[in-house]
Amino acid sequence: MNAGGGRREADRAQPGGNPPRLPVVWLETNSCCGNILSTLNSLDPTFREILQGFLDLRYCHTLMAAEGEMADAVLRECLGEGGYTLVVEGTVPTAAGGYYAVVGRKNGRPWTALEAVQEVSTPAKHVVAVGSCAAFGGPFAAAPNPSGSKPLSAVVARKVINVPGCPVHPDWVLGTLAALAWYGEPELDALNRPRMFYEETIHNHCTRRYYFESGIFAKEPGEPWCMYKLGCKGSVTFADCPLRQWSGEHQSWPVGVNTPCIGCTSPEFPDGTSPFFEHLPDIRLPNVRVAANRVGLVTGAAAALGIGVHFIANVLTGRLKRVWGKKK
Ligand code: SF4
Repeated sequence: MNAGGGRREADRAQPGGNPPRLPVVWLETNSCCGNILSTLNSLDPTFREILQGFLDLRYCHTLMAAEGEMADAVLRECLGEGGYTLVVEGTVPTAAGGYYAVVGRKNGRPWTALEAVQEVSTPAKHVVAVGSCAAFGGPFAAAPNPSGSKPLSAVVARKVINVPGCPVHPDWVLGTLAALAWYGEPELDALNRPRMFYEETIHNHCTRRYYFESGIFAKEPGEPWCMYKLGCKGSVTFADCPLRQWSGEHQSWPVGVNTPCIGCTSPEFPDGTSPFFEHLPDIRLPNVRVAANRVGLVTGAAAALGIGVHFIANVLTGRLKRVWGKKK
């Protein structure tokens, strides 16, 4: 990563005729830094290989050696040149003039995250929200949300590619950035998530799906059966965790270590997917009336119908009704 001063070598084609590296400005706003830390866990390729191969990570609060005026100079240079990909990690507080999150100083006064993302997104070529906070609000925007935290798309007048996850899987963010570097914008779903990672539900490829279909459910944490009755939200959560797996070299994932899916890639997370370990009440469809727009809140209607209407009815008429009802 550049520490300041001139930079041009990354804009030239790489040895062997490889395409130029993608210039990236990574801004952290109201965040726990979980997404940049998760990204560093990429092992194949390693993060070093990624930086050498296709990512020109020019500015990043957590990783850059530069600080103070030297760091500011790097960002000013990026702003002047434009054309970079802006990655934002975290929500953007809007209450109290945005002073709940200050990312630096500008013109002698605090520079809020709200001002920063609006200014830095303007000359960007692509804008990517990494992690569930930036993409959909996530934990920092959970009720009662005193900071008025909002997802990135709510505060910038730009198209935002959403790469949710709490935290994001290294492949999801690096795969999206690689696509932008080599092919342009990847195909997105209705929530602007790259289809290549968020096309199907967790449930579709879950290793315990057989037990769900057979009606064999775990009653206690630690049992090897389907965790639907322990509150698993895999049926209404879109991500490829069962296929991709986590923990560095794609070793395991939440259900693999006996933890029900908590729906962290969903726009409703966490208010709409909690209590995480509570089975939603059984409600039989013939007595349930569910508006189509409520289906869309959770899943998208097509996928919802594919996983069993009783499950969706449970979600929509149970806790979600309570949560979303309060917000209106
Ligand atoms: S409900 Fe959860 S544990 Fe059961 S099959 Fe679906 S994703 Fe897997």
